[in-house]
Amino acid sequence: MNHKSIAIDGPAGAGKSTLARQLAEKLGFLYVDTGAIYRTVALKVLWEKADPADPEQVVPLLERLDIYMDYGPDGVQRMYLEGEDVSGAIRRHKTSGAASRVSAIPEVRAFLLDYQRRMARENNVVMDGRDIGTVVLPDADVKIFLTAAPEARAKRRLLELEQRGERADFDAILQDIKERDYQDEHRSIAPLRQAADAILLDTTDLDLGQSMSRLLFLVKERISL
Ligand code: C5P
Repeated sequence: MNHKSIAIDGPAGAGKSTLARQLAEKLGFLYVDTGAIYRTVALKVLWEKADPADPEQVVPLLERLDIYMDYGPDGVQRMYLEGEDVSGAIRRHKTSGAASRVSAIPEVRAFLLDYQRRMARENNVVMDGRDIGTVVLPDADVKIFLTAAPEARAKRRLLELEQRGERADFDAILQDIKERDYQDEHRSIAPLRQAADAILLDTTDLDLGQSMSRLLFLVKERISL
C-alpha cells in the first residue's frame, strides 16, 4: 500500500510541532517529530560528556545508541534512551543547542535517515523537521515550509516558558533563536531551506487557530483524503 506523507519544515519556534501534531490528529496520520530524535541523540552525547560538535567523539556513540520511540495513550510521541523515558529531558535548553550541533554531523544524519524513511514507508505520516521535504522525503505528497519572523517566534517561546512557570528573558531567547537559525541554515549537509516545490506558510501575523485553518486548507487542496 502506498502511504501518504506530509513534510513540514521550518526554523525553530515557527509552530511546526504544534501544527503538525494537530494536523496529524485531524487526518488520522502518524505524527513524527524528527527534532525529538536529534535531541535524543544529543542527550546521549551529553550523558557521555562528549563534545556535540566533535564528530570523533559523537560518531562512535552511534554504534551503541539504544533509542526508541512510541506513542502514549494521549497520542503524544515519547522518546526513550537506554530504556529511560527522556521526553522531558530532551526539551531542556542545553539539549537544544547540542541537538543543533550533532545534527550538523553527516554520519548522524545518515544514521537517522533510514529510520525516518522507514516510518514514512510504513505509515501515513505528518513529519516535521528541517530537511524532510528536501532530503528525507523528497517525494512527499505535500511539502510545507512553515516560518515566522524571529521576533514573533521568540515571543511565542517566551509565553510557552512563562506558562510552564519558567523564568525567561526575551532578548536571550531571540538571540538563541537567531543562533540556531544560523547554524541550521549554514551547515554544509542538509541545511534548512525551502524545497523548490514546498508551499510557504508564514505565521508571523497568524494565531494558532488561523495557522491551522490555513494549513488544513493547503493540504486538502493537494491530497484527496
Ligand atoms: O525541531 P527541534 O527544535 O526540536 O530540533 C532540534 C534540532 O535538531 C534543530 O535545531 C536542528 O538542528 C536539528 N534538526 C535537524 N533536522 C531535522 C530536525 C531537527 O537538523 N529534521
